[in-house]
Amino acid sequence: MAEYSSIEWTDHTFNPWWGCTKISAGCTHCYAETWAQRYGQQLWGKQSPRRLFGQQHWQQSLRWNRQAEAQKRRFRVFCASMADVFEDHPDVDRSRQQLWQVIAETPNLDWLLLTKRPENIASMLPVAWRTHVPSHVWLMTSVENQQQAETRIPVLLGVPARLHALSVEPMLANVDLTPWMASLQWVIVGGESGHNARPLHPVWVRTIRDQCLAANVAFFFKQWGAFTPDEHGQNVSFQRVGKKRAGRLLDGRTWDVVPPSPAARSEQPNGTTKDAEYLQALSVGYHL
Ligand code: SF4
Repeated sequence: MAEYSSIEWTDHTFNPWWGCTKISAGCTHCYAETWAQRYGQQLWGKQSPRRLFGQQHWQQSLRWNRQAEAQKRRFRVFCASMADVFEDHPDVDRSRQQLWQVIAETPNLDWLLLTKRPENIASMLPVAWRTHVPSHVWLMTSVENQQQAETRIPVLLGVPARLHALSVEPMLANVDLTPWMASLQWVIVGGESGHNARPLHPVWVRTIRDQCLAANVAFFFKQWGAFTPDEHGQNVSFQRVGKKRAGRLLDGRTWDVVPPSPAARSEQPNGTTKDAEYLQALSVGYHL
């Protein structure tokens, strides 16, 4: 995959393997499957093989780690865009062990592990991490509707990471996150793109934004997706204009707040400096 990610909320994207199995409504138009098929690869479904990688591929992360150290900054690494890190598939067990090893060797990177299978996190993490997830590992689950919110979020929060986050993308219905807001550090919202995309209602996005505002949780609006909403009072119509033209403005502005790395905060004396910067970023970001 591309070294520098085009995904707005990450610096790099790393895929320990390619391939997955669809498990919920958010998977219906999985862009990763379409992308793999363009390369002639049939990697989706339980019976299909997974595409594994050699040493050169795995070296990328070590190089990013050295760059981050030299630049005295941290890089966010999204893992994975072409797979689900916690999928139970026999082809990937060794690669997953290799991933844990690489994560352990790259303390200057923040690893954003996004899954639709949070129920597998506890049993698939290294034993030593199950009670103490390293501070540079961010645990994230996808939530496309209320049913998945109620199923996945409590399970995610049951794993004692320093940072729990949600990707509400593709957002397919209104979602109430208030029961879990106090335990979340970050929520990303986005609409669907592609040929069969489903439109994203602006009221749904505002609901989550306002819940984040009320709870001081970082809110990131990634994109409208294929459709742009046209609002006339209470009425909303949608025009298919494509992801690029639909853009990512909500109520006339972008929403780009990202929480600070718990690993960076723990490097600060008393953790206070970064916390203060973050609170300032929140208030600037939200125009409070
Ligand atoms: S979990 Fe993610 S990668 Fe896997 S099928 Fe669903 S959308 Fe695609």
